[in-house]
Amino acid sequence: MDVVYLDNNATTRVAPEVVEAMLPYLSEYYGNPSSMHSFGGDVGEKIKEARRQVADLIGAAPNEIVFTSCGTESDGTAIRAAIESNPDRKQIITSRVEHPAIKNLYETLSKKGYRVTFVPVDNQGRLDLDYLYKSLDDDTAIVSLMWANNETGVIFPVEEISQEVKDQGIIFHTDAVQAAGKIPIDVNATGIDMLSLSGHKFHAPKGIGVLYIRKGTKFAPYMIGGHQEEGRRGGTENVASIVALGKAAEMARQHLENNGYARVGELRDKLEASLLERISHSMVNGDTQHRLPNTTSIAFEYVEGEAILLMMNEHGICASSGSACTSGSLEPSHVLRAMGVPFTAAHGSIRFSLSRYTTEKEIDFVIEKMPPIIERLRELSPFWKQKTELKAQS
Ligand code: PLP
Repeated sequence: MDVVYLDNNATTRVAPEVVEAMLPYLSEYYGNPSSMHSFGGDVGEKIKEARRQVADLIGAAPNEIVFTSCGTESDGTAIRAAIESNPDRKQIITSRVEHPAIKNLYETLSKKGYRVTFVPVDNQGRLDLDYLYKSLDDDTAIVSLMWANNETGVIFPVEEISQEVKDQGIIFHTDAVQAAGKIPIDVNATGIDMLSLSGHKFHAPKGIGVLYIRKGTKFAPYMIGGHQEEGRRGGTENVASIVALGKAAEMARQHLENNGYARVGELRDKLEASLLERISHSMVNGDTQHRLPNTTSIAFEYVEGEAILLMMNEHGICASSGSACTSGSLEPSHVLRAMGVPFTAAHGSIRFSLSRYTTEKEIDFVIEKMPPIIERLRELSPFWKQKTELKAQS
């Protein structure tokens, strides 16, 4: 069975050109980039090229790019660096809808005496900017906000926020793991001090990430070791993955420059509009005006997200639900809860996330298969039964 992969916010396929670029660095060119001999030195040159390719994707200078192992490491390093460089400051500001890479770290830090302020969002997933700006004070070590939400695709106005935060002398970090390669990013035009990226979200392999650190930002490394990455992250470089990331960044930049995401956006819009039209009691979660072009989170009321995913899986369709299966109960995700999405809608929410490899044929296939899946599940749903009986009585 062919797979229709609409789960690209979870991970993406590695682009064939990226595989081709990295393979020689797993076989022929295995030198250590720190070695004195030219067999290693040549590898060092290739890393330089990758650093420049990544820098070009976000408008940074190459020496502001630090390679890490993933988005989670980049996020954690940024936050720990900010609090370590500002030991007298005890407040950390973030939002209620961050990825667990950030959310769970704050839970640990708040147990260690940090005051973590979670800025709320409205029912469209938009950040409460007044709340944010009123929370800034001279006890704040860092403001860390995601650029785009992984579940809904909603984009926060980080350019504007970073300027405001920076004007108050506070470090600003953004988790751009979902934004990178999907929308233009220019760190130079903003006050962003640190920014996280992850390769596997834009067609590089898993296990390679980036932390952008603006020149002059106070920084303390998390991985202390050798002199690699100019002392900002010890450990022998993951050469093949760095080369891959460079190539993926170059391809993502070209795709953005050629307005390639417009086509992805059109396919997403077609999928969304068709499903809303064909399936009653369905709605989009989040602000549709400020959103990644590849993402839609759709709530199918009165059915269970996990059951929908299982039936989609029978047709080879891959997506994600808006629930987290914890201790046997299906809790709606913290993102949908923070937005106040009603229980009956949050439970039946499915995230579809496209990529530049998604085809119209695949979208048409999903549009055809989804309505009977929801209809079948609603026939089995006690909530739906209750609802239709109530309607019949009124
Ligand atoms: N931040 C966001 C917004 C994400 O979506 C993810 C992964 O889904 C991460 C951070 C973590 O990235 P990684 O899987 O590279 O650790």
